[in-house]
Amino acid sequence: MQVFKFGGASVKNAAAVRNVAQIIKGFSGEKLVVIVSAMGKTTNALEEVVNAHYQKNTQQALDLLAAIKNNHISIVQELMTDANNAVYEQLNQTFRVVEDRLQQGATSNYGFEYDQIVSLGELLATQIVAAYLNTVDIASQWLDVRHLVHTDNTYREGQIQWKTTEKDIPTAIHAVWESGKIALTQGFLGGTPEGFTTTLGREGSDYTAAVFANILESQGMTVWKDVPGILNADPRLVENTVKIPVLSYYEAIEMTYYGAHVIHPKTIKPLQNKGIPLYVRSFVKPDEVGTVVQTELPANTQLPPVVVIKSNQLLVSVFSNDFSFMAEENLSDIYELFAAHRIKTNLTQNAAISFSACIDNTPMRIEALLEALEEDYTVYKNEGLTLITIRHYTPEALEQHTEGREILLSQKSRHTIQMVVR
Ligand code: ASP
Ligand code: MG
Repeated sequence: MQVFKFGGASVKNAAAVRNVAQIIKGFSGEKLVVIVSAMGKTTNALEEVVNAHYQKNTQQALDLLAAIKNNHISIVQELMTDANNAVYEQLNQTFRVVEDRLQQGATSNYGFEYDQIVSLGELLATQIVAAYLNTVDIASQWLDVRHLVHTDNTYREGQIQWKTTEKDIPTAIHAVWESGKIALTQGFLGGTPEGFTTTLGREGSDYTAAVFANILESQGMTVWKDVPGILNADPRLVENTVKIPVLSYYEAIEMTYYGAHVIHPKTIKPLQNKGIPLYVRSFVKPDEVGTVVQTELPANTQLPPVVVIKSNQLLVSVFSNDFSFMAEENLSDIYELFAAHRIKTNLTQNAAISFSACIDNTPMRIEALLEALEEDYTVYKNEGLTLITIRHYTPEALEQHTEGREILLSQKSRHTIQMVVR
């Protein structure tokens, strides 16, 4: 049995959906769980709906939603020529829930509004894929993941309630398999005990797949992507990338932790805990092998320099006002503030009376943190920076990525170097 995850790019239009069906057909007879995320850039588009809704621009929110609807309907029309296909009414109903919410106006809880609306993308994508699979004789059962993946009500970052999730996933999935079908459901979403929708964090569908793989003790999990596997850098940012055929969980979690976008960072732990291999393969060239992430690297593996580039970084420098040392007391105070504002530090360093942290520059989220820090410290900001991380660095790789750049901060261990550059 296998868990497959198809991301937004793999279902971005009618041709892409047909291709996904073709791939699934190649595994007919196997016990499959197929996790699908929202089509193309739908989640970004829905975020704009949320923002308009939250700012009480109801008409604008409805117009933005109508554009999303047109886009989905035109994909369905291309896939399913029968105008009486039940999927049309199903999609109308799914849209209506959000349309009604927009009409009602927003509560003051942004995260709550976000999750109730943004979740639409995954619901639509899976309803469309399920309907299409039926027309090409792939027997699938659509499941509402919000009844299977239980979370607390930390909106936009739902924390999985493992006890109930571990009970409900196997029951539902085994029933589907017994009926000879494949199980098809949404990534990224969860449900609270009160029946509200949560999301697991942007790009969280990989994590959903890993949760299913863990709980079902799957033989493997495959993420189908538009790249041939895990590369040593993002090909959009770095030239001459190479594919890494085998990675260990440890190497993979380090890469994702530093910001490599190949898979969601939370994906590795549930797989590692049960020793489930992760395959990253191309949906464009499904016959090629891709990358496998497993417990150990084969003996004598020499990994290439792995480069992770994060742009739009902010360097926050915090100074004590009274020349007191930046020792445990001040540091724990500062870290507590970061934690309380849920701001992740990408790199930190401290000196006698100062502390520096490189963080993602997300103005909406960091303003409150900066204000809180300013109550007790003097705070300086440097914007527009890039964080470069190189694992297994070589002199050549260092030279290539720092040439002509000003290095504001750097940190080096035996295997990894990180530099904040302008
Ligand atoms: N559709 C969601 C997003 O774009 C989840 C995912 O793609 O994994 O963030
Ligand atoms: Mg996506």
